Amino acid sequence: MKLAGRPLCPGVALGPIHVLPEAEKPGKNAPKGTPAEELERLELGRQRALDRVNGQQSAALEKLGKEEADIFRLHALMLEDRDLLETVRCAVRAGACAEDSVREAGETFAAAFRALEDPYLRERAADVEEVSRLWREALSGNLGRLELGKPAILCTGEIAPGELIALEREKVLGLVVERMASDSHAAILTRAMALPTVVGLVPRMDWEGAFAALDGETGELYVTPEEKVRDRLMEKAQAQRKIQTELVAFRDRPACTRDGRVVSVCANIAAPEEAALARREGAQGVGLFRTEFLCLNKEQCPGEEEQIALYRRALEAMEGRRVVIRTLDIGGDKCPPWLEAGRGENPALGLRGIRLSLKQPELFRLQLRAILRAAPYGKAALMFPLVSSAQEVRAARALLERCRAELEAEGLPAGEVEVGVMIETPAAALMAGELAKEADFFSIGTNDLTQYTLAMDRQDPELDGMYDPHHPAVLELIRRTVEEGHRHGRRVALCGQLGADRSMTKTLLQMGVDELSVPVGEVLELKAHVSTLDLSE
Ligand code: PEP
Ligand code: MG
Repeated sequence: MKLAGRPLCPGVALGPIHVLPEAEKPGKNAPKGTPAEELERLELGRQRALDRVNGQQSAALEKLGKEEADIFRLHALMLEDRDLLETVRCAVRAGACAEDSVREAGETFAAAFRALEDPYLRERAADVEEVSRLWREALSGNLGRLELGKPAILCTGEIAPGELIALEREKVLGLVVERMASDSHAAILTRAMALPTVVGLVPRMDWEGAFAALDGETGELYVTPEEKVRDRLMEKAQAQRKIQTELVAFRDRPACTRDGRVVSVCANIAAPEEAALARREGAQGVGLFRTEFLCLNKEQCPGEEEQIALYRRALEAMEGRRVVIRTLDIGGDKCPPWLEAGRGENPALGLRGIRLSLKQPELFRLQLRAILRAAPYGKAALMFPLVSSAQEVRAARALLERCRAELEAEGLPAGEVEVGVMIETPAAALMAGELAKEADFFSIGTNDLTQYTLAMDRQDPELDGMYDPHHPAVLELIRRTVEEGHRHGRRVALCGQLGADRSMTKTLLQMGVDELSVPVGEVLELKAHVSTLDLSE
């Protein structure tokens, strides 16, 4: 059976299909029955979670040893803990939904562990979170939703950015998603993971286990393909591997056009491990480190020390090349479970990016301190997302300087960092001259710039084809930003998905863009492409 979806991320995948059950909905959910029925459901879920944990305990004892098995024994004990059970049951009796009650109690208990002095007990917070997750999965019939036994092509209605991060990459051959817009954050991650992906197809439960072939370049999915289709796609996969090998020649060369313009080609990353990959692919720096992905699927925002370790890993992996750490761009479609704010009626226009950071200075301070403290381990820069006024940049820089002074007073080292501004709202592009006085560099975020210029939701799959970063209004804002940035002696980078659109490379470089930052998997091809261009033609 041949199905025609929309291509999202190129690459060929061949293997068995695994259909993922629907994910848990974040936020407040309505109870599925009366409190008595919810209590019954709650208990059933707990028993299922307990069975699973007991199974994990026996398996660990057999394969690993007593110490490892004890982890699961502890999880079983937590699922029997009277205080935890009573807290959850109490919320359910008061009319809350079972899943929400488990999540909220889990967060409260994890926070209590985290506040303890004893480092061993502090670490138990992660165990409570794990138990809460298992219980919730058991409740919604999703137990082990993301645990893959063997490599497979995953098919699902929807998948959240946090879930994508939780996947074991080597077990995911390809992805078929019914609802995913091309410039959504989930789409950005699939590209970062170089995961062959087709969207717009409705998965069917009876595909489970069937052999399939997927072509992320054409958007085709073949369920139980004929032999000749299978052979053709196998050959295509082989040819793609060959091209990848040839591209390696560009790894250690700078990207230079035929008429001699040297262009910096950098990588966008969402996790420190990707920095090592970016380096191996010949990226000349990290132009965008989306730090929010470090905390999206956590029950708590990573603390200062944890953040330092994460940034340090990325900085060290880049061996002295610049890493632009973007401060948390949360709110809107990227709301971690621990965040109350940013879930307004109209989230894309709500408390997001720098606005949210300035409203939650404690959270912002934590990250700024971590970036300053990690900076001595490499060449760090930071930048602020979704800026729409010079006042926001001044306020953010003032807080940065206060953090620096605090660290000095505490005798802790703080490195030098350049401070950049993302140009991703029409206001920022139109005020680029003003903003250039406050910023050391610009980075144009064409994904949001397109969304806000055209007033088209980048998350909405129904707008695919209409949401158009090539629109003359978007290009005019890019042109003005580069012009104003250069007039004030600022470097102008571009880190939105348009940077990886090779049909636009020449136009962007002719406008004067100094740096293109693209998903890791695109770096080599873009370097090769730049070397074929003559900007004087
Ligand atoms: C952008 O908006 O173009 C951008 C790079 O940021 P993000 O995609 O993370 O919103
Ligand atoms: Mg953006």
